[in-house]
Amino acid sequence: MDLSYILNHLGEERKDYFNAVSPPIIQSSNFVFDSVSDFRQQISNEYESHVYTRGNNPTVAILRKKLAALEHAEDCLVFSSGIAAVSAAVMGNISSGDHIICIKSAYSWTKTLLQKYLPRFGVSHTYVDGKSMADIEDAITPQTKLLILESPNSILFELQDLSACAALAKTHNLVTIVDNSYCSPLYQTPIDHGIDIVVHSGTKYLNGHSDVVMGVLCASTTMVKKIFYQEYMNIGHILSPHDAFLAIRGLRTLHLRVKRSHDTAARLVEALQQHPLIEKIYYPFINDQQMLAVKQMKGGGLFTLAIKADSKEKIMAFCDSLSYFLMAVSWGGHESLIMPVVTFYDMPGMPPPELPWNLVRFYIGLEEYEVLYDDILQALNKIS
Ligand SMILES: *Cc1c(COP(=O)(O)O)cnc(C)c1O
Repeated sequence: MDLSYILNHLGEERKDYFNAVSPPIIQSSNFVFDSVSDFRQQISNEYESHVYTRGNNPTVAILRKKLAALEHAEDCLVFSSGIAAVSAAVMGNISSGDHIICIKSAYSWTKTLLQKYLPRFGVSHTYVDGKSMADIEDAITPQTKLLILESPNSILFELQDLSACAALAKTHNLVTIVDNSYCSPLYQTPIDHGIDIVVHSGTKYLNGHSDVVMGVLCASTTMVKKIFYQEYMNIGHILSPHDAFLAIRGLRTLHLRVKRSHDTAARLVEALQQHPLIEKIYYPFINDQQMLAVKQMKGGGLFTLAIKADSKEKIMAFCDSLSYFLMAVSWGGHESLIMPVVTFYDMPGMPPPELPWNLVRFYIGLEEYEVLYDDILQALNKIS
């Protein structure tokens, strides 16, 4: 199925709604039945019918079809946040007494789930750095059920070998989960490497306009159906029809946005590499994991600069001097952003982060390359 068809037509039964180009927002909590026998039939198969919007909703269904196709998956669920999708993927596949292996630099709330929440239910975990297959294999115990990956991960953009991890997991009967937010399905499709479940913070590239928080879970029909009847229907962290509509609108330009973000990021990395005030750039296509990056992914629009500075104040001055880059969490929208690690230093009552204070994560949005490059240069000049 080609990309143009997925983004512009898949799932859109226009004859059902006056041939409107843009799908209707079916803002209804429930759906009626013609007869008791119809009611009985529909409610006995809630996964495939329209009973109640906590289960299925026609506007949400359009979004699910498109996302499943983009990830080369049989089916997909969408959630009211990315972390809801991660939590559903994890909780749907473990029971009390089980063990999870996870990369140690996973998204912060994924780690909170493992460290603070799941121990209450007798589920333990081991962190691995994810670069060494031997380390992952050594961490497997008879109780291990899940391998959680994020490739590339946030901030340092370290990769895991998806094919090798999927193969190892199969021999030990582990379910594999990959957080694919960085690449988007356009630049990496983990299911093609044998991964079982792909999750996204749809808040980032997929919606892409900094106006919806959403999560995505893509997998086989069997897996999606299991999670539908467990976490999805029970915890009820669904996406509203209105947010689904906005996300469908966001997807129309996914290919343009993601490519623009990647192309500009790659040019900036290239141009900044030789700058005397840049100690190192963390970006998948340079550094030690370059070969793996080329093998399994095509791009992404985030990188981290390690800036040469003799004080935290200089890093703060650099960040405060940027005028086009907004300072914020999250990423994936139209606007370029920075997230300085130094923010998390000197917080009352909090231990300092494991990452050094001279790191600043950049997300590259849709602005012109020259504007962003000049902005970074002028801010570096302020601290030189
Ligand atoms: C933002 C993010 C999440 C969490 O998604 P929310 O939509 O904020 O809940 C999970 N994983 C990664 C890699 C992220 O960047």
